[in-house]
Order: sequence, then C-alpha cells, then structure tokens
Amino acid sequence: MTKKSDEPQGTRVEHQAPAEPRQWEQQTQPPRQTPPTFTPQSALPAASAALTPPVKCPACGKAAGDELSCQFCDQVLFLPQGITLSTAGLRFGGHILEGVLIICTLVIGWAIWALIVFQYGQTPAKQLLHMRVVYIPQARTARWWRMFFREVIAKTIIGILAAFTLLIPYFWLLWDRNRQELWDKMATTLVVSDRQDRLQPQLSDSRAVTPQI
Ligand SMILES: [Zn+2]
Repeated sequence: MTKKSDEPQGTRVEHQAPAEPRQWEQQTQPPRQTPPTFTPQSALPAASAALTPPVKCPACGKAAGDELSCQFCDQVLFLPQGITLSTAGLRFGGHILEGVLIICTLVIGWAIWALIVFQYGQTPAKQLLHMRVVYIPQARTARWWRMFFREVIAKTIIGILAAFTLLIPYFWLLWDRNRQELWDKMATTLVVSDRQDRLQPQLSDSRAVTPQI
C-alpha cells in the first residue's frame, strides 16, 4: 500500500538533492555544536574541577585533598577562610529548631519568615544558627528560587521517598563526604556555618544578576 510510495520518495530525495542540502547542513552544524545549558548534576564535577581547590587547606595548612572541604578542619575550600561545613549535629539541631519555630509561629509565621530569608540562603533556623546554603557551581550563597526549590520541592520529594525507606534518606549526610542531604544533591548546594555573615548577599547584588536560581 504505502510501501511503494515510501521507497521512491527516498530515492527522489537523493536525486533531487545533490549539493544544496549539504550546504544547509553545514550551516546548521555550528549551532548544534554549541554547548548545552548546564544542569546541576553535570555542573558539579565541572565546577569542582574549575574551582581547583588548593593543595593545602588555607585554614589549617594540611593537605586538603580533592573534596569540596578540608577533611581536617571543615573549611570549605572555594569559600573565604572561616566558612566551614556545618557539622552533622548542627544540621540535626537545625531541623529540631525549625520544627520548634514552625509550631511556635503557627506555621504561617515561619513561612513568612522563610520567604524573606530565602534570599540570603537561609531558613529561619539557619538564620538563628548562622548557617547558610551555598550554591556550589558558582561558589556563592544560594538565592531565593534555589532555596524555594530546595526547601519546598526537593524536601517534599525526599520526604515521600523517606516515608517508604525507613527515613534513611534523612541521614544521608552522615556518610556523605560533603555532608550533603539528598535535597542538597538535587539543588547542588552545601550547608555552611557562616558565623560572621561573610556570605550575606547584598540586595542590590541579588537584583543585578538575572535569573536568581
Ligand atoms: Zn583544613
């Protein structure tokens, strides 16, 4: 039925188009070769390589290895001296404090507070504990939309996953080299202790750079 019409069409195309389509192909090839926009997963190894962490930790002077943070003193190698990975105890303490704040503020107060401090890479508990979420590929504080994704979307997905897996995903940071939770993996973030608020972004700064992800 249509088999006959398919085969002649294929041969017709070959006869009719000796040279012109090839010129078109040549014209369209360069745009195809342009690099695709990065995804967080692919950006992580590229960024860690691009950041080229120093051989010696700037904080303690020991060989820091090729991780994102010093294995001896927790200094985050691509951030200013004094910015360290938050300890597991502080992370879990932060979760408890977050729960207390949610209850004490009848949820809505916490939610409003959170929507305000997301732009500083923080949640209410993180603000009180001087912790901050850092976006790894750009070595800077996570901004509003990334925080929203991390706190609302990613944590909801992991929460559903955890409900079926004995809550094991919640303890992921205990065996992760960079103390990332799974929602940190999804958002390409680290949680750091920033006791002197060195990574506090300026408001004018956050508005200048276009998509605040
Ligand atoms: Zn160190």
